[in-house]
Amino acid sequence: MNAPSQKGQLAVISGPSGVGKSTICREVIRRTGARLSVSATTRPRGAGEEDGKDYWFLTRDAFEQRIRDEAFLEYAEVFGHYYGTPRREVDEALARGETILLEIDVQGARQVKRMYPEAVMIFILPPSGTELAGRMEKRGRGEDEDTRRRRLAEAGQETAQAMRFYDHMVINDNLEQAVQDVIQIIQSKSGA
Ligand code: 5GP
Repeated sequence: MNAPSQKGQLAVISGPSGVGKSTICREVIRRTGARLSVSATTRPRGAGEEDGKDYWFLTRDAFEQRIRDEAFLEYAEVFGHYYGTPRREVDEALARGETILLEIDVQGARQVKRMYPEAVMIFILPPSGTELAGRMEKRGRGEDEDTRRRRLAEAGQETAQAMRFYDHMVINDNLEQAVQDVIQIIQSKSGA
């Protein structure tokens, strides 16, 4: 539950693809009223994904124009595609005192931490590597074998880097528990 006196804050949620970040974020938002920043990306839209809801799907040219316009709070290239957090949405939410979640990779998270040292940094871990590989395969984004393999390798590297600068690690073994853990971390850091 959300304490009414809560001060808005920035919470960064990272973790390997397929670990369940989106599901966790969706639940945290539903239960707390926090908002999720919608990122922009140049990667192709997956089945069931909506423009403006899951991501803003942009061409490379459009994305690079926004980089030049300094429209991103942070951006990074992940698996050969750009991903970035639109600056305005975040600034406006923070100005209104809202809690905003950024579901971004480790490179982006590092940039955010530099700009907002107060940001709460949470890294989601899978219960095991085998479990993660299975989940990634089931997601059915039509990715080829090679891309999936790269994502899995990337997951290992990302986790090793994360150990160094994330304040919190949450294991997504049981979804309900993971959601509660994330909510508890965010609320314990907010203005109390
Ligand atoms: P996916 O393609 O699986 O949706 O996301 C791939 C990776 O990009 C994930 O690690 C995800 O957290 C990251 N990502 C998504 N949006 C952003 C963003 O705005 N900035 C950064 N730096 N990474 C992002």
